[in-house]
Amino acid sequence: MSYKMNSLLIHGGIDGDETTGAVNVPIYQTSTYKQDGLGENRGWEYSRTGNPTRAALEKLIADLEKGQYGLAFASGLAAITTVLSLFKSGDKLIVSDNIYGGTFRILDNVFKNFGITYEIVDTSDTAAVEAAISDEVKAVYVESPANPLLTVTDIAAVAEISKKHGKLLIVDNTFMTPYLQRPIELGADIVIHSGTKYLGGHSDTISGFVVVDDKEIADRLYYLQNAIGGVLAPFDSFLMIRGIKTLGVRMDRHVQNAVKIANWLKDSGYAKKIYFPGLESNPGYEVQKKQANGPGAMISFVLDKKYDYRKFYKNIKLITLAESLGGVESLVCHPASMTHAAIPYEIRQEVGIVDELIRFSVGIEDADDLIEDLKQAIEASK
Ligand SMILES: *Cc1c(COP(=O)(O)O)cnc(C)c1O
Repeated sequence: MSYKMNSLLIHGGIDGDETTGAVNVPIYQTSTYKQDGLGENRGWEYSRTGNPTRAALEKLIADLEKGQYGLAFASGLAAITTVLSLFKSGDKLIVSDNIYGGTFRILDNVFKNFGITYEIVDTSDTAAVEAAISDEVKAVYVESPANPLLTVTDIAAVAEISKKHGKLLIVDNTFMTPYLQRPIELGADIVIHSGTKYLGGHSDTISGFVVVDDKEIADRLYYLQNAIGGVLAPFDSFLMIRGIKTLGVRMDRHVQNAVKIANWLKDSGYAKKIYFPGLESNPGYEVQKKQANGPGAMISFVLDKKYDYRKFYKNIKLITLAESLGGVESLVCHPASMTHAAIPYEIRQEVGIVDELIRFSVGIEDADDLIEDLKQAIEASK
């Protein structure tokens, strides 16, 4: 029988342990497996190639993303590296503007050296995506909502264009998770995750995922996963399975808190601009509503110049200044000097990553306490 999302989160993949009845998937902390004779093994040979704890997690993420094939990696960037290794010299990718900094870095400083090029396009403008397609283009790479301005791309519309021209659509679904958005159902070919964020959910494990529905792409990716070797360890696979069990209840609270805080911020007058796809004033509001089950819990806002943004980061008490996002605890970061520092100053101004921009990963603490902390920190920053 096919379970709904909230049951799949707990019982999807491989549910517990067949051998002992343990309700949790055991941690198979082994690098290799006994072979009963030459060419006779029990389905496992070497843990880079396959490990039962990782396999249970890989089946789980596939079940959640509604693809047939899942792969788990040691980080989001190991997952991205493996996907980008599908391409060869002379190939070109169309890439969303304001994507994750590390994705931009590996495209610009690593894969470009191997002759794989990219073109940055505002993928929220579907016509611009179609206009950028050429023979060399082999794939469109989208983040929605994108980092840090939460720009929303119409995934189904871009999928239609990609299909029409015979290009792959790759979607980084980290900010949404399969609980809120399932790109394969919208027509994407490859879904990528940094499991480090909401999927793990506790800021204690680095991990990454890829999910696909096509057997041919899956076979190539399994080959590359084993060939490149950036696999997730058994213990970390266990932690991810454990984290994913509570994804639904966590996301519900994350989103509830984020909506409350965004509305408070809008009425407070503290912010000159708020980027949050859950506000009707946001240009991506309608598309977000159409393609996802919620706006997510990332809010970016531009602090009014009356306040000193440097002091704000000193004054927060409950909220923590740190890189990363998607954990149970609220984190803020300063995109201009942290996640997006590699982008030249002029370009940052142009695209809206100004110095006063604050990126807020809303946690699952009490929303009133979070609002109180924001308020006291901003008031003390005059
Ligand atoms: C963090 C992140 C990544 C990279 O993942 P790591 O687990 O840090 O390697 C990729 N994409 C997005 C959207 C992210 O937020």
